[in-house]
Parts: sequence; C-alpha cells; structure tokens
Amino acid sequence: MSHSDNCLFCKIAAGAIPSRKVYEDGELFAFHDIHPAAPVHFLIIPKAHLASLAQVGPEDAGLLGRMMVLAPKLALEQGCNPYPKGGFRTVINTGDEGGQEVQHLHVHVMGGPRPWLKG
Ligand code: 5GP
Ligand code: ZN
Repeated sequence: MSHSDNCLFCKIAAGAIPSRKVYEDGELFAFHDIHPAAPVHFLIIPKAHLASLAQVGPEDAGLLGRMMVLAPKLALEQGCNPYPKGGFRTVINTGDEGGQEVQHLHVHVMGGPRPWLKG
C-alpha cells in the first residue's frame, strides 16, 4: 500500500492519527470530519495515497466507482434521511482554486436536516 510521508490522511488511514472511523475495508477508509459543516459530515478516502482528483487515470476508475457506491450506503447508516426528501451532498475539492486543503483525495459526504453551516 503506497503512502506519502507527512500526509495527514495516510496517517489517519493507517490509524497512526486517531479519527472517528465510519468504515474500513482493504482499500477504503471513512471517518468523521473534524469540523463538520452539516449534521452528518464524513470523508471517504482511498488507503493508498493519491493526491487529488487531478492525478487519477483510467486505472483508478474502479476505485473511484467504489468510493461513490459507498457514499449513499454510509450516508444512510450515519443518519442522513432517505432520498428524495433527505439525501446528502458529495464534494471533491481539487487543488488550491478548488478549495482543497488536505492533499490526499477525499470525498466529503454531508447531510442531515437543514440549515447547515456555510463554507
Ligand atoms: P478539503 O478542504 O481538503 O476538501 O477538506 C479537508 C477536510 O479535512 C476539512 O473539512 C477538515 O475539517 C478535515 N480535516 C482536517 N484535518 C483533519 C483531521 O485531523 N481529522 C479529521 N477527522 N478531519 C480533518
Ligand atoms: Zn496520503
């Protein structure tokens, strides 16, 4: 499993830095965001280091698909209300102008009753 030294989310995926875990399998890890912007707010990451969506190639299509397929399942488990009245928001920030602060690919999953924090 490739990782990047001094990458916060590699350390979280490895358990070297504690987090509130939501899900784990051989290739993916999900955990609650430390500064939630919504009543439910967790992040889905690949365990292997991938800096951002800007670095993905055709070989990552399966991984990305599995991240997206996991999102609705975990959203319901974490308390998001069912579609269509409920639902959730999925966000992938990419690069400085895309608002990415942590340089390890992550999908934000946010949901729960409105209003949410702005940001
Ligand atoms: P970005 O802005 O890169 O899309 O999102 C990074 C997210 O990671 C932010 O929402 C931020 O709150 C979250 N975050 C940053 N550091 C930590 C941490 O140490 N633990 C957890 N659980 N979340 C973090
Ligand atoms: Zn990393």
